[in-house]
This record gives sequence, structure tokens and C-alpha cells, in this order.
Amino acid sequence: KTYESVALIVGVTGIVGNSLAEILPLSDTPGGPWKVYGVARRPQPSWSAEHPVQYIQCDVSDEIETLSKLSPLTDVTHIFWVTWANRPTESECCHANGAMLRHVLSAVVPNAPSLRHVCLQTGHKHYIGPFETFGKVKPHDPPFTEDMPRLDAPNFYHTLEDILLETTAGRGEQTLTWSVHRPAVIFGFSPHSMMNLIGTLCVYAAICKYENTPLKFPGTPAAWNCYSVASDADLIAEHQIWAAVDPNARNEAFNCSNGDVFKWKHLWRILAEQFGVEYVEFDESEERVSMVERMKGKERVWGEIVKAEGLAPTKLEEVAVCWFVDVILGGECMLDSMNKSKEHGFLGFRNTGTSLISWIDKMKGYKIIP
Ligand code: NAD
Repeated sequence: KTYESVALIVGVTGIVGNSLAEILPLSDTPGGPWKVYGVARRPQPSWSAEHPVQYIQCDVSDEIETLSKLSPLTDVTHIFWVTWANRPTESECCHANGAMLRHVLSAVVPNAPSLRHVCLQTGHKHYIGPFETFGKVKPHDPPFTEDMPRLDAPNFYHTLEDILLETTAGRGEQTLTWSVHRPAVIFGFSPHSMMNLIGTLCVYAAICKYENTPLKFPGTPAAWNCYSVASDADLIAEHQIWAAVDPNARNEAFNCSNGDVFKWKHLWRILAEQFGVEYVEFDESEERVSMVERMKGKERVWGEIVKAEGLAPTKLEEVAVCWFVDVILGGECMLDSMNKSKEHGFLGFRNTGTSLISWIDKMKGYKIIP
């Protein structure tokens, strides 16, 4: 079979990597037919095995391993960067994430003569600053637009953008283009994601159901009441594929959110309904109990649920990323603008309420949650 395009997804088992792995091989995907290589650190999980992707287990933080496993991929035309490394400080994040990207680019760029485009996924922290400076560095005034200057704080997103620009600029005759994608919080499917909000909320709801307790909101009044935005993982994949093949999107950064607004107090009811658990209004007079607090000591209960419901075997710490829920639901959400994407020709959108239900259904279908 001959292919029009050849993708290398770095982070193929992640929350957007999994969507790219599902969408790229479809017969009607723009730029196709696509051949797809997918890289992740761990052995291929069963839920990812059905995608027609050549799976490459490789730790891209290891320079030698990356060179030996990725330099033979001489037919790659597009790289999708949907991975990251979490470290205790942002300066360590800059170092670790920068090294990962350099290792992959050094293995692929000199060996893949048809390489045309690199999609880099970053996010809203471009406008807010990294987790460690939350509350210390003044974020940009929302709604965020792509022309806002960088904040004066270390940020691994800057490191990645700089490496990307440096690499693509030095390509001479052969044009190598780039695009940067900045989603808000992502709704998607991946039991291997380091930040999966919906997966964690589902595990919490399943535990509430099992213990017959009401579904209490672990966030703040601000998060319950404010307008919020989110990014559907399939929509992000579509946005990246659009940028990979449409000349209008070359060498530009784009926000990437669903195009609607929602309130957590409304989504909370949907979540409760999906698990048949009692919905309760947020009681502003009660002291906040964080998700980390609520899930303390629930490992055994989760084990019981997995067994009783015949779920795919997972440990609580794999499927529940409680600190991330506490960050996202800890304060008012900041909105972004999708005008630039629309002006450049991307008209995709998602209804966030429908998106929530579709990801819950998918997690149930794969027996990650009951
Ligand atoms: P993720 O945590 O869902 O997935 C990461 C993927 O990378 C997994 O497949 C994992 O196996 C792989 N991986 C991790 N380390 C690796 C290594 N050393 N070698 C090979 N593979 C490795 O990723 P994500 O959440 O999509 O994050 C990508 C970017 O998106 C990050 O910059 C993140 O800040 C940003 N972002 C995420 C969210 C969210 O809600 N998850 C929201 C906005 C922005």
C-alpha cells in the first residue's frame, strides 16, 4: 500500500495520542491515507492495540534508545508531539521536556527527508504560567488570544516552542513547517494520561455509587459557578490534522477549545446521572474537601469495584489523578478565543455536555469504569 502521509505520534497512549491513533488511520482523514507510528514508554496496552498503528515502545528521555528506535523511520512526514514529563520544578520541566523533544528531532529530522510538519501540543498554561507559579505570576487577561506575549516566568512550553522554531528554521531548501496547539483542560480517553480530569471524576463517581454517598463537588464556589471551557481530545486531534495538512495553518500557534462555554454545576448533574448517583448542589457554607482528601485510602475500595464489576485491572493511582482535579476545580476557569482558528479555516467544535457523555461511554465500553 502506498501512503500519502506518515505520522509519528509521540505519546500515542496519552489523552490526545489515543485520539490521533484512532482518527489518523481512517480512510477519510485529510492528508490520507496515513501510515501511523506511535511511540510510548510502556508496553502497548490492550485498549490501544486495535488501532492500526505500528507501536514503538521507546523512552524518549533516553537519547541513545530514541536514536536507535526512531532513526530507522525514514518515511515519516509529520510529527505529532503529544507527550510531556512532569518534574518537581518548572526549571526541571524545561530541562526534561526540552531534552525529550531534542532527542526525537535529532533522530528523525536528519533521517526522514520527507518530513514536512511538526505539531506541538502545549496548552493554556502558556497564558497562565506553570503550576508552580499559580497565584504568583499575573496571568493574561482572558479571553486568551494567541498574540499575547509570553509571561515572564519559566515555562517548558517556551522551551519546546524555541526548539521547534530553531529546528524548522535551519532546514534550508526543504521546508519543514510547524504548528502549536494550546488546549484548555482536555476531555478524553486514556488510562495512561498524567492529567485526566474526566477519568478521575468517573472513578470518584463510581466510588460514591459503590459506597452509596452523594456526589459532592470537590472544587471551589468559583469553579462551580463560573463559565468554563474545555477541549475534546478528538477535536484536538482534528485540529492538529487540519494544521498538518492545510497551508493556512503553517507556522502558527492556535488555541484549541470546544467553542462553547459550560458551568460545572450543570456538568455535575450529567456526571451524577451517568453513574446513577445522588446529585447534590454545592453547599457554599461547607468547608472544601479536595479530591486528594476524598480519595485518600480508597485503593482497596477501587480494587473491590474492579473485581466486582469485571473491569480491566487498574490501580487507583493509575486512573485517578486527584491533584489535577484539585487544580482545575480550584478556581475560576479562564476562557480563550477560537477566533484565530476560525479565521484560518478551522470550524470544528464540540458540545461540551455531549463530549462528557461520549467519553464516559467510551470508558465504560473499555471497562475502565463501571
Ligand atoms: P498524557 O499525559 O495524556 O500522555 C502522555 C503520553 O506520553 C503517554 O502516551 C505516555 O506514555 C507518553 N510518554 C510519557 N513520557 C514518555 C517518554 N519518556 N517516552 C515516551 N513516551 C512517553 O499527555 P497530555 O495530557 O496530552 O499532555 C501533552 C501536553 O498537553 C502537555 O504539554 C500538557 O501540559 C498539555 N495539556 C494537557 C491537558 C490535559 O488536560 N491533559 C490540558 C491542556 C494541555
